[in-house]
Amino acid sequence: MTTFVVVRGAIPAELSNGKIYVNSSGNRAHHLCACGCGSRVLTPLNRHEWHLTGSDLNPSLTPSVGNWNLKCQSHYWIRKGMIVWAPRWSAAEIAAGRTREQKPYIEDAWMDKAKSWLSRIAEVIFRIRK
Ligand SMILES: [Zn+2]
Repeated sequence: MTTFVVVRGAIPAELSNGKIYVNSSGNRAHHLCACGCGSRVLTPLNRHEWHLTGSDLNPSLTPSVGNWNLKCQSHYWIRKGMIVWAPRWSAAEIAAGRTREQKPYIEDAWMDKAKSWLSRIAEVIFRIRK
């Protein structure tokens, strides 16, 4: 059974099975699909996408990895270095999952707008007081 460990530094062109390669800035991770199909899986590491927890010898990648764009359609978690297979998703579930993934970005754009309005209002109030 394949287990995963973290390898940090420049992500190589050729990946090996069982390794999660994390770039030097720590915002990108690549690994070979856990099913063994040899496809490279990209998981951006940030608060909206994936996060890597645990030690480099027992890493956990959250949330699950769903390779809907690959032929294998594999869906799994990496928990404490182990692969935990997840049920396959139907087309409808995949679509719903994609909508959920986009939501934080939309909310962030709204927050940014709200913040800029607030700072403009504060600026106006400040000028009036002067
Ligand atoms: Zn695969």
